[in-house]
Amino acid sequence: MFKKIFSGVANFIVPPICLCCGKPMIDKEIYICRQCFLKLEKISPSFDIIKYQFHENSFISHAISLFLFKEDNPVQVMVHGLKYRQMRNIGKFFGRMIGFEISKRIRDNFDYIVPVPLHISKKRERTYNQSEFISKGISETLNIKVMDKCLKRVKFTQTQTKLNREQRQENVRGAFSINQKFADNIPGKNIIIVDDVVTTGATILECARILKEESAGKIMVCSIALAE
Ligand SMILES: [Zn+2]
Repeated sequence: MFKKIFSGVANFIVPPICLCCGKPMIDKEIYICRQCFLKLEKISPSFDIIKYQFHENSFISHAISLFLFKEDNPVQVMVHGLKYRQMRNIGKFFGRMIGFEISKRIRDNFDYIVPVPLHISKKRERTYNQSEFISKGISETLNIKVMDKCLKRVKFTQTQTKLNREQRQENVRGAFSINQKFADNIPGKNIIIVDDVVTTGATILECARILKEESAGKIMVCSIALAE
């Protein structure tokens, strides 16, 4: 009771505001208000992500992304909060949504969740890897273990915006390696690779490639958003 009153008082003093539009939020709204939430552009389950984003790459069995990533869309504001404003729980929030989608759509069982790692220098600067928090949300929902140290980013890759598809794939080749401590966990296991936003798909494909080299089973790719 006291706690309830106290939180009521706290809300009265500093009402939580929507990350996107800055309006005060009402009960049950989290991070963004309902109006802004409705502006998120959902990706239809019938959209073939493997065909369009991963060029029908045979390493990938399933792919789920929740929203289209667009400039000035609330999804961009939320991903920005997750990556650069220490709002780690936005990752869990979306992770739980992804977990729910997996449970609705995918019949295969998965053994591990592997977040795409950041390069150590980037992780030091940011203090955490946003994809780990998305993975935690998925893990909570589906009760699948996160293997967050399974992959290491061993090469710092430059921005890929000016490169074509082949050059991008070449650019990330050798960027990751398997942490040998976890190598025995991989053969025959179905693995979910998690990233925040999938842009070219090159990074994910490189992660999938090295997991497949270790004889991983099926690979599913999940992200909050897909960039066009
Ligand atoms: Zn809003």
